[in-house]
Amino acid sequence: MELLERARELSIYTAYNINVDAIVYLKGEHITKLVNEFGENAIRKRMDEYPREVSEPLDFVARLILALKTGKPMAVPLVNEELHTWFDSHFKYDVERMGGQAGIISNLLASLDFRRVIVYSPTMAEKQARMFVDRPNLHYPVVEGSRLVFKHPYDAYRENDPIKINRIFEFRKGTRFKLGNELIEVPFSGRFILSSRFESIKIETRDELRPFLPEIGEMVDGAILSGYQGIKLRYSDGKDANHYLKRAKEDIMLLKRNKNVRVHLEFASIQNRELRKKVIYNLFPLVDSVGMDESEIAHVLNALGYPELADRIFTYNRIEDTVLGGKILIDEMNLEVLQIHTIYYIMYITHKDNPLSEEELRSSLEVATTLAAARAKLGGIRRPEDFREGLTVPYNERGEFVKLRFEEAKRRTREYKVVIIPTRLVKNPVSTVGLGDTISAGAFTSYLAMLREKGCFV
Ligand code: AMP
Repeated sequence: MELLERARELSIYTAYNINVDAIVYLKGEHITKLVNEFGENAIRKRMDEYPREVSEPLDFVARLILALKTGKPMAVPLVNEELHTWFDSHFKYDVERMGGQAGIISNLLASLDFRRVIVYSPTMAEKQARMFVDRPNLHYPVVEGSRLVFKHPYDAYRENDPIKINRIFEFRKGTRFKLGNELIEVPFSGRFILSSRFESIKIETRDELRPFLPEIGEMVDGAILSGYQGIKLRYSDGKDANHYLKRAKEDIMLLKRNKNVRVHLEFASIQNRELRKKVIYNLFPLVDSVGMDESEIAHVLNALGYPELADRIFTYNRIEDTVLGGKILIDEMNLEVLQIHTIYYIMYITHKDNPLSEEELRSSLEVATTLAAARAKLGGIRRPEDFREGLTVPYNERGEFVKLRFEEAKRRTREYKVVIIPTRLVKNPVSTVGLGDTISAGAFTSYLAMLREKGCFV
């Protein structure tokens, strides 16, 4: 609690992705209806074809049934904007709430009473703006005349801005349905995310705001940037991913005119290998801190040319392989700190000369897992005291094993600081959406608070 209180002194900027998460709690009847509508044969044929994106309803039905059969969480892009009406006529959404990393992180930090949270997204539709918490410390930058002013997002929405809706189908272990004569029972609880990828939603800072980024950089202690998975390789106006990555690089450099500002990039899974590689090579070298989960580090290592190590991480989930991968990444990209979260443990890897001691790094990870546990248990964090709920959640039962494997891995790490803690794991979480973002926001801000106290900021 005490370290979190110190972190709350900070001001944070966060961009770029916000969206509406429309959640459906899937029942057997939903799936039976879809099977009746499309027919077993057509569905099976499409399942064999394994569509990588959803451009018609049958693609969706096929990928959904594949996810249900394996019980594995999956995310597939929806690329046909016209399908909105099909979904809206077939499903009633049980919950609609803030989604997108910047949206989730800004609401979290504002609710925790951080000094100031500036959230930016190039689009701000009314429905979206209503999903921000009503807190006086939460600001959206707007250019009026030629001046920079700050408003609550709700006072800054724009009538005709597009809205991005991600549909999340949460499924429960044990749900049953029939596909022809085959009776399918869902083996694990999880979620199937259909994320909208439309041209109208860009990952960029609008031209009118860009000249003010250095000023915003002066106002904050740190920036948390995310959403690069939403960049498209090609746009119909002839622009491409390189165009948006160049702008993204410039944005980071503009914020960093303030030498003290630290920038964290939250990396999310990028299905397209070419884009993944571009994001890594263009942006990682410019930021100080990167956060990701275990499957993402495997993907990153694959893109950097370490396919065997990546395969090992995918197949065996061994801590020592993840540590090795992490060291490669901080060296090749010259990161100050890398944070990796998995279901059973969270890890920091830094160079030996990091100003924080291993004990301090550990305390930062403790803040992160406690916050995530509080969110999993309560379904959301509404006020600073909610953090205490996280302290009542026990560490997962593999904790001792994690510590043991870590001690073995550590013997080979003289030039680095590697710190690993087991996670506090909620048995029946209210929701698992946004937990990774919560971990990264808690870790980065508490890390920053300690750096500042050490006088690492001039
Ligand atoms: P991501 O895959 O980026 O959304 O991150 C999910 C992270 O949330 C995992 O790595 C865990 O550390 C954490 N997490 C997942 N499930 C739970 C749970 N039931 N209770 C607490 N933390 C969780």
